[in-house]
Amino acid sequence: MPELLSVESAVTRILESFRPLPVEHVELVESLGRVLGADVRASFDAPPFANSSMDGFAVIAQDTQGAEQQQPARLRVVADIPAGTMPTRALLAGEAARIMTGAPLPEGANAVVPVEQTDQNWRSGENHPPSAYVSIYQTVNPGAYVRPRGEDFFTGDTVLPALTPIRPQELGLLAALGSQRVPVIRQPRVVILSTGDELLDVEQPLAPGKIRDANGYTLYGLVKTYGGLPIRLPIIRDTLADARARFQAALALQPDIILSSAGVSVGAFDVVRAVVEELGAINFWRVNLRPGKPLAFGHVGGVPFFGLPGNPVSAMVTFDVFVRPALLRLTEQPDAVPTITAVLEEDTPSDGRRSYLRVKLRRDGAKWVATMTGTQSSGALTSMVKADGIIIIPEGVTLARAGEPFAVRLLRDIH
Ligand code: AMP
Ligand code: MG
Repeated sequence: MPELLSVESAVTRILESFRPLPVEHVELVESLGRVLGADVRASFDAPPFANSSMDGFAVIAQDTQGAEQQQPARLRVVADIPAGTMPTRALLAGEAARIMTGAPLPEGANAVVPVEQTDQNWRSGENHPPSAYVSIYQTVNPGAYVRPRGEDFFTGDTVLPALTPIRPQELGLLAALGSQRVPVIRQPRVVILSTGDELLDVEQPLAPGKIRDANGYTLYGLVKTYGGLPIRLPIIRDTLADARARFQAALALQPDIILSSAGVSVGAFDVVRAVVEELGAINFWRVNLRPGKPLAFGHVGGVPFFGLPGNPVSAMVTFDVFVRPALLRLTEQPDAVPTITAVLEEDTPSDGRRSYLRVKLRRDGAKWVATMTGTQSSGALTSMVKADGIIIIPEGVTLARAGEPFAVRLLRDIH
């Protein structure tokens, strides 16, 4: 009997087949959810000019010394500076300019007094000319309510380093920087194949002996979650001709990964294995984990190929353990999964392989306590829906005891 391969050595061997993908340029909005392919530097200071953080009056701070409600400082209003305009003249001693949030401070001014601290009031949206004088009720220091030039970033700053995932805030910053097209790492194209004569697609009515394809969709979701572009092909029937045709169709799509589920075990109708051996090469590894049958990994027409187990839970777990790191390597993203430590509620037998079991989590004082989600059948997809996480019982353990701590890979936000 061949030796069991550890999960880590299987992952290491798999990763040897994966190199980061090249950079392409996409329209700004298309970059959302992608990975930045190059450093982005600022070509200007932001803000480009010192500006007001309040609606009010730009002043020379010195002129407000001692000002308070009972003893206002009276300043001459010499300018009106709406946002989007430039001041036309500098302030001199004893002068103020009405100024709106975001508008540039005039030359000479070094502080702003909010309108609420003056005898003026204007309702936003109404544009009355400012009165000739303003009474200031507050002493302000230099810099008060002023956003200095370059507060956000300076010319030449690397504001977004390469490999940053582009979230809404990065998208907005790219827009502010004027990046109409954005360098991003090409998205991994992943073809997803489901195989088996028993499978029907979602729109087909159930028939005796048949079940619907779930893996095609869980894998679609997982690929998308980790930044890939999933492409589902029609279900492969258990004939060599159909399997061959589908794999050729898959290769024509020039994918970075081909993922199939089921059809690689020793069953009489396992045609995927035959076709992969015909078009490429395949290895069967007996990996020391549960659930997960022998993992098939190889190449078809030069494209890395994973043959995942058919059972829906096994397909998800093996994706998480083996495919996710590969996918993340393609876009140079760290393979970090949210993990906590939890203690088992009950004694739990294990079979000595590294076991991934579905659990519910609850808080007990400072601890998290893990309870099995009913059936652990690798065919029961509801166990993945109910689970808060997957507890990992290490290899070599045959009885995990109640109260013992183990790592739990979170499937949802539990806080
Ligand atoms: P196999 O790997 O072909 O022996 O399949 C193992 C189990 O997974 C069988 O019960 C199959 O019916 C089931 N199965 C295979 N493919 C899928 C799929 N795409 N969706 C749901 N169940 C599947
Ligand atoms: Mg089958």
